[in-house]
Amino acid sequence: MIVYDLKCRKDHVFEAWFPDSASFTAQAEAGKVVCPVCGSRKVTKALMAPAVVTSRRGKAEPADRAQETPQESPRENGPAAAALADSEKAGELRRMLRELRDHVEKNCDYVGDQFAEEARKIHYGESDPHGIYGETSDAEAKELQDEGIEVARVPWLPRENS
Ligand SMILES: [Zn+2]
Repeated sequence: MIVYDLKCRKDHVFEAWFPDSASFTAQAEAGKVVCPVCGSRKVTKALMAPAVVTSRRGKAEPADRAQETPQESPRENGPAAAALADSEKAGELRRMLRELRDHVEKNCDYVGDQFAEEARKIHYGESDPHGIYGETSDAEAKELQDEGIEVARVPWLPRENS
Protein backbone atom coordinates (compact mmCIF):
# COMPACT_ATOMS: atom_id res chain seq x y z
CA MET A 1 0.00 0.00 0.00
CA ILE A 2 1.10 3.50 -0.68
CA VAL A 3 -0.39 6.74 0.54
CA TYR A 4 -0.44 9.85 -1.55
CA ASP A 5 -1.16 13.38 -0.63
CA LEU A 6 -3.42 14.47 -3.42
CA LYS A 7 -4.42 17.89 -4.50
CA CYS A 8 -7.43 18.92 -6.52
CA ARG A 9 -7.44 21.90 -8.86
CA LYS A 10 -8.82 24.04 -6.06
CA ASP A 11 -5.82 23.14 -3.96
CA HIS A 12 -7.68 20.95 -1.49
CA VAL A 13 -5.13 18.51 -0.20
CA PHE A 14 -6.19 15.11 0.96
CA GLU A 15 -4.78 11.64 1.38
CA ALA A 16 -5.66 8.47 -0.42
CA TRP A 17 -4.37 4.95 -0.29
CA PHE A 18 -3.53 2.85 -3.33
CA PRO A 19 -2.13 -0.64 -3.76
CA ASP A 20 0.72 0.88 -5.75
CA SER A 21 1.58 3.94 -7.82
CA ALA A 22 0.25 2.40 -11.04
CA SER A 23 -3.15 1.99 -9.38
CA PHE A 24 -3.21 5.63 -8.51
CA THR A 25 -2.39 6.61 -12.09
CA ALA A 26 -5.05 4.29 -13.45
CA GLN A 27 -7.73 5.44 -11.01
CA ALA A 28 -6.90 9.10 -11.46
CA GLU A 29 -7.05 8.80 -15.23
CA ALA A 30 -10.35 7.00 -14.94
CA GLY A 31 -11.72 9.86 -12.84
CA LYS A 32 -12.20 7.60 -9.84
CA VAL A 33 -10.16 9.75 -7.53
CA VAL A 34 -12.42 12.45 -6.20
CA CYS A 35 -11.64 15.39 -3.98
CA PRO A 36 -13.61 14.82 -0.73
CA VAL A 37 -13.99 18.57 -0.27
CA CYS A 38 -15.36 19.76 -3.57
CA GLY A 39 -15.86 16.58 -5.55
CA SER A 40 -13.41 17.60 -8.25
CA ARG A 41 -11.95 14.79 -10.31
CA LYS A 42 -9.03 16.91 -11.44
CA VAL A 43 -6.71 15.42 -8.91
CA THR A 44 -2.96 15.32 -8.99
CA LYS A 45 -0.32 14.02 -6.66
CA ALA A 46 0.62 16.81 -4.30
CA LEU A 47 3.46 15.20 -2.48
CA MET A 48 4.14 11.66 -1.60
CA ALA A 49 3.82 11.01 2.08
CA PRO A 50 6.04 8.48 3.78
CA ALA A 51 4.86 4.96 3.01
CA VAL A 52 4.93 4.24 6.71
CA VAL A 53 2.11 6.22 8.18
CA THR A 54 2.69 7.80 11.53
CA SER A 55 0.54 9.71 13.96
CA ARG A 56 1.34 12.82 11.99
CA ARG A 57 -0.59 11.41 9.07
CA GLY A 58 -2.02 14.20 7.00
CA LYS A 59 -0.40 16.80 9.19
CA ALA A 60 3.11 16.63 7.81
CA GLU A 61 4.98 19.86 8.22
CA PRO A 62 6.15 21.51 5.01
CA ALA A 63 9.74 21.00 6.12
CA ASP A 64 9.14 17.25 6.37
CA ARG A 65 7.56 17.17 2.99
CA ALA A 66 10.61 18.77 1.46
CA GLN A 67 12.44 15.51 2.01
CA GLU A 68 9.89 13.72 -0.14
CA THR A 69 10.02 16.18 -2.99
CA PRO A 70 13.50 17.07 -4.13
CA GLN A 71 12.17 19.44 -6.77
CA GLU A 72 10.78 21.65 -4.04
CA SER A 73 13.86 21.54 -1.89
CA PRO A 74 15.25 24.95 -2.81
CA ARG A 75 12.09 26.68 -1.65
CA GLU A 76 11.68 24.56 1.44
CA ASN A 77 15.32 24.87 2.41
CA GLY A 78 15.11 28.62 2.11
CA PRO A 79 13.80 29.44 5.57
CA ALA A 80 16.24 27.11 7.28
CA ALA A 81 19.17 28.56 5.39
CA ALA A 82 17.93 32.06 6.08
CA ALA A 83 17.57 31.31 9.77
CA LEU A 84 21.13 30.08 9.87
CA ALA A 85 22.35 33.20 8.11
CA ASP A 86 20.33 35.31 10.52
CA SER A 87 21.90 33.73 13.55
CA GLU A 88 25.33 34.29 12.03
CA LYS A 89 24.41 37.88 11.31
CA ALA A 90 23.08 38.31 14.83
CA GLY A 91 26.33 36.98 16.23
CA GLU A 92 28.30 39.37 14.07
CA LEU A 93 26.07 42.23 15.11
CA ARG A 94 26.51 41.41 18.79
CA ARG A 95 30.26 41.34 18.32
CA MET A 96 30.23 44.73 16.60
CA LEU A 97 28.02 46.26 19.25
CA ARG A 98 30.28 44.95 21.97
CA GLU A 99 33.27 46.49 20.20
CA LEU A 100 31.36 49.71 19.83
CA ARG A 101 30.62 49.73 23.52
CA ASP A 102 34.28 49.15 24.34
CA HIS A 103 35.26 51.93 21.98
CA VAL A 104 32.75 54.36 23.43
CA GLU A 105 33.70 53.54 26.99
CA LYS A 106 37.39 54.06 26.26
CA ASN A 107 37.05 57.25 24.28
CA CYS A 108 34.04 59.04 25.61
CA ASP A 109 33.04 60.50 28.93
CA TYR A 110 30.06 59.05 30.67
CA VAL A 111 27.63 61.82 31.55
CA GLY A 112 24.71 59.75 32.65
CA ASP A 113 21.36 61.49 32.42
CA GLN A 114 23.12 64.82 31.76
CA PHE A 115 23.60 63.64 28.19
CA ALA A 116 21.31 66.16 26.51
CA GLU A 117 22.71 69.04 28.53
CA GLU A 118 26.32 68.06 27.86
CA ALA A 119 25.62 67.48 24.20
CA ARG A 120 24.22 71.00 23.90
CA LYS A 121 27.22 72.51 25.73
CA ILE A 122 29.55 70.85 23.28
CA HIS A 123 27.40 71.75 20.32
CA TYR A 124 27.18 75.41 21.29
CA GLY A 125 30.86 75.67 22.19
CA GLU A 126 30.40 76.00 25.95
CA SER A 127 32.37 72.89 26.45
CA ASP A 128 35.41 71.49 24.65
CA PRO A 129 34.43 69.00 22.00
CA HIS A 130 34.71 65.51 23.30
CA GLY A 131 32.81 62.34 22.94
CA ILE A 132 30.17 61.73 25.52
CA TYR A 133 27.72 59.02 26.19
CA GLY A 134 24.89 58.68 28.59
CA GLU A 135 21.19 58.26 28.79
CA THR A 136 18.54 60.43 27.31
CA SER A 137 14.89 60.15 26.56
CA ASP A 138 13.45 59.71 23.10
CA ALA A 139 11.99 63.20 23.29
CA GLU A 140 15.32 64.72 24.24
CA ALA A 141 17.13 62.80 21.57
CA LYS A 142 14.70 64.14 19.01
CA GLU A 143 15.13 67.71 20.29
CA LEU A 144 18.87 67.36 19.98
CA GLN A 145 18.53 66.11 16.44
CA ASP A 146 16.20 68.99 15.63
CA GLU A 147 18.90 71.35 16.90
CA GLY A 148 21.35 69.71 14.53
CA ILE A 149 23.19 67.80 17.22
CA GLU A 150 24.27 64.40 16.10
CA VAL A 151 23.26 61.72 18.47
CA ALA A 152 23.40 58.03 17.91
CA ARG A 153 21.30 55.57 19.74
CA VAL A 154 23.02 52.26 20.11
CA PRO A 155 21.78 49.06 21.64
CA TRP A 156 23.87 48.76 24.76
CA LEU A 157 24.67 45.13 25.17
CA PRO A 158 25.49 43.82 28.57
CA ARG A 159 29.01 42.55 28.88
CA GLU A 160 29.47 38.88 28.53
CA ASN A 161 30.52 37.11 31.66
CA SER A 162 33.93 35.76 30.90
ZN1 LIG B 1 -11.27 20.04 -3.99
